Amino acid sequence: MWKEIMQRTIVGFHRDEEDQWVAELDCYHGQHMRHTPPFYERFWVLTEEGRATRLGTQVECLKCDQFEWPEKLVEFKRTPEFTEETVPAGLLRDHRTKGGIWAKINVVEGSLLYLPETGEPIQLTPPRFGIIVPEMKHSLQLLSPVRFYVEFYHLPTIS
Ligand SMILES: [Zn+2]
Repeated sequence: MWKEIMQRTIVGFHRDEEDQWVAELDCYHGQHMRHTPPFYERFWVLTEEGRATRLGTQVECLKCDQFEWPEKLVEFKRTPEFTEETVPAGLLRDHRTKGGIWAKINVVEGSLLYLPETGEPIQLTPPRFGIIVPEMKHSLQLLSPVRFYVEFYHLPTIS
């Protein structure tokens, strides 16, 4: 199967507990930007000016590719419970969440197939839930009489 790693935008930087620079991505994952010569040469990461030049640029996010749930997400919305009779047709076609919006597919009873654009189809049967990565195209296929709902997550709002 053809596979493309999700491209994410660098939105900030911070240092981890070992003093290594971590790029903050718009998917809410962090990615180490090490400057540890001779293995990794990233002089740019050492200065504020250097880091500023990388803001807004894109990098591949392997954590998205592996459906890794970011820390600190909070639920802000959930759908009603759907059945094979009430499932919105849009969920059965290719669709995607907006940037920064993560989701979980929770099957209450029965079974469905979660088909992400990248990777293999995943069969969801309780208690296994599906993780939907921001902006990744996906669709659902119902396998049996099923009851399920979807939860949506983002970062806690800082105001
Ligand atoms: Zn990511």
